[in-house]
Amino acid sequence: DVPMILVSACLLGLNTKYNGESNLHALIQKYSTLGRFIPVCPEQLGGLPTPREPVEIIKGTGRDVLRGASLIQGESGEMVTGQFIKGANEVLKITELFKVTAAILKERSPSCGVNHIYDGSFGHVIIPGQGVTAALLQEHNIPLYSEENLTEEKLLELLSC
Ligand code: SF4
Repeated sequence: DVPMILVSACLLGLNTKYNGESNLHALIQKYSTLGRFIPVCPEQLGGLPTPREPVEIIKGTGRDVLRGASLIQGESGEMVTGQFIKGANEVLKITELFKVTAAILKERSPSCGVNHIYDGSFGHVIIPGQGVTAALLQEHNIPLYSEENLTEEKLLELLSC
């Protein structure tokens, strides 16, 4: 069994981001041809379109959403909590199909944020907390890494597991 690493699809250059663009991360891309990364976009897997409107977790974190204590809302007021929970569960299924040993996820996303998310005010206010998919993966003991402080040394260590 070869250990696999889940990666937010936008970090690998897929145009899955809400505005139809990517968050291409040169260091992660450098090792993509090893075939050890599984790109996932929980928001697309949850059934949301691309492009889509920006959304934030309202008054809480991904963990609060999973326990039914917080909602996810678009700038327009549309509620998308169900799609976010569905997407997180689809990603969890992927971890069960492969031997996933870690996840490298996009910081501050309401799905993928590992250490920080936005506060729900749509005022660019950052708070400590995780996105919904990150929280669900952590509950299932998948080690999480943010792309923001990922060093080449750490990435090589994850690949050598
Ligand atoms: Fe990237 Fe995650 Fe947002 Fe999808 S949900 S675009 S993978 S940060």
